[in-house]
Amino acid sequence: MKELQPKNKCAGISKTGPCKARPMGGSQFCFFHDPKFADERKKARRRGAAVKHGLEATPLAMKAPEGLQTIAQLMELVEVVLRGCIEGDVESKLASAMSGLIKTQANLIVDFKLEDRIEALEEAAQPKEVDYETQIA
Ligand SMILES: [Zn+2]
Repeated sequence: MKELQPKNKCAGISKTGPCKARPMGGSQFCFFHDPKFADERKKARRRGAAVKHGLEATPLAMKAPEGLQTIAQLMELVEVVLRGCIEGDVESKLASAMSGLIKTQANLIVDFKLEDRIEALEEAAQPKEVDYETQIA
């Protein structure tokens, strides 16, 4: 009775019929139907609900800017952390760890931008009519 469904489909039943998800390695079921993962699913659901209701989310997570891809966003984050330190919401250990990460991210952003600029400059500086393939050969 093992092969009721094709091998690459989960053996579970969803609300709309047989589950079409791929089973996980070594199992007949996908993550959502495997009895082995019932506990993990419950935990994940609880985590999701807590985040939704702002129960577990720290003040830091709620105040941090959504993106951390620009220097301006990082500056915003630094301000949040700094305020958190002053107000006692952020422990000094966390603040110093974040400080290192923020610096790393800032450096990466700057490097990335420099790379883009250099590429653009190189492109602009290239003589247009040179055939590089024949030059290299
Ligand atoms: Zn399934």
